[in-house]
Amino acid sequence: MMEKTQNGVLIIGGGIAGIQASLDLAEQGLKVYLVEKSPSIGGVMAQLDKTFPTLDCSACILTPKMVEVKLSENIELLTYSEVEEVSGKAGDFKVKILKKPRYVNEEVCTGCDICSQRCPIEAPNEFDLGLQPRKAIYLPFPQAVPNTYTIDKNYCIECGLCKGVCRVGAIDYDQQPTILEIEVGSIIIATGFEIFDANLKEEYGYHLDNVITGLELERLINASGPTGGHVIRLSDGNLPKRVAFLQCVGSRDEKVGNLYCSRVCCMYAIKQAVLIKEHEEDTDITIYNMDIRAFGKGFEEFYQRAMSEEFGTKFVRGRVGELFEIPETGNIRIRAENTDTGEFTEEEFDLVVLSVGLIPCKDAKALQELLGIQQDEDGFFTGENPELLSTKSSVEGIFIAGVVEGPKDIPDSVAQAGGAAIKASVVAVKGGET
Ligand SMILES: Cc1cc2nc3c(=O)[nH]c(=O)nc-3n(C[C@H](O)[C@H](O)[C@H](O)COP(=O)(O)OP(=O)(O)OC[C@H]3O[C@@H](n4cnc5c(N)ncnc54)[C@H](O)[C@@H]3O)c2cc1C
Repeated sequence: MMEKTQNGVLIIGGGIAGIQASLDLAEQGLKVYLVEKSPSIGGVMAQLDKTFPTLDCSACILTPKMVEVKLSENIELLTYSEVEEVSGKAGDFKVKILKKPRYVNEEVCTGCDICSQRCPIEAPNEFDLGLQPRKAIYLPFPQAVPNTYTIDKNYCIECGLCKGVCRVGAIDYDQQPTILEIEVGSIIIATGFEIFDANLKEEYGYHLDNVITGLELERLINASGPTGGHVIRLSDGNLPKRVAFLQCVGSRDEKVGNLYCSRVCCMYAIKQAVLIKEHEEDTDITIYNMDIRAFGKGFEEFYQRAMSEEFGTKFVRGRVGELFEIPETGNIRIRAENTDTGEFTEEEFDLVVLSVGLIPCKDAKALQELLGIQQDEDGFFTGENPELLSTKSSVEGIFIAGVVEGPKDIPDSVAQAGGAAIKASVVAVKGGET
């Protein structure tokens, strides 16, 4: 008979996968510690405008789940925190968590925003990918959970203005890091991904004003984004009338060492093409691609709809050879080979969007060293039998969910998180092997 530990579960990473796993475990009555390194949970889904193929509003799906996490009595939410040390074994892990100082008291801050309005210092806004500034004291985005401000000490000049206007006395410039020690039965890693650094494909001209990434487009097209939902050219603020998408930027590309398909870029580019057309009907859109991978439920139909008369998106098969800027207009000329017709083409566009792939999260190596789990040759975490059980890592009692395991979309991340939660609960409750 195995010993009952009922220790609870540690979840590392508060994107949609970590959120879903936390909610599923909390619903079973287990104690969950959700550790997120940034000031708010939400992950990349919080930055998206709509989701393919249904064009549902991303925040409308995500925000209620984020709030549910905050309200759950079974979830201890540890944002702006990182796991420092893990020891022990399945059923009995001992974990040290570093809680970084926000310099704002989380228990007291009401999220009223007066501090930020008074702050004289601007800093790059990570959530909007630098497309607009934020203040040195900031909330990452309006729906952030927790709804607590954070002082960025890299920019703060301690002028005292925020402290002076804070009616509840939440500002504490002397706040120190704290270490929390917990014991859990099992661990789920859901630390997600980064987008491929488009600068590494120099020939695609990401340094040019009118060449942006797909994630930047998500922010531009979002009504609560930096341009109020207008997809503009960064060079002159004009609305582009001819937009090109370049697929497989950093994916399926031997030259950058990523042979894998990122699985979401075809669909997110099609989604963005449709959204641009919904905003500005008379925009011409061309998607340069090797082939379109529309493998999920409703994806092929969505692709066909994008090509139909309703949206009129043009798909050109072939890789782009090079692109260059026309200095007088800031327009971009694209040279490509159409591999269907064998023709070489040169076309001019007002805006180019790079459909960047998904790469392992920045902390993958450090987490691998901390937890001893196995990575595949691309740097994503993997189990011993990924063909049978993709949620089980190579270490007993540690599970993986979401893009940290490999590129996937939101529904697949949520499904995998549910699977990881079940497996993690078995170890947490019974201890030992699953
Ligand atoms: C441009 C673009 C458009 C997309 N559009 C769609 C779409 O329309 N539909 C769709 O289904 N999918 C879409 N996707 C894919 C979608 O974003 C992912 O499937 C989803 O975000 C995966 O969630 P996740 O929780 O695995 O990872 P993430 O969203 O990356 O979340 C991981 C979380 O872990 C945190 N973290 C990282 N390291 C640590 C650490 N060491 N300690 C603690 N916390 C850590 C991060 O801060 C983050 O909050 C799109 C992706 C991109 C790039």
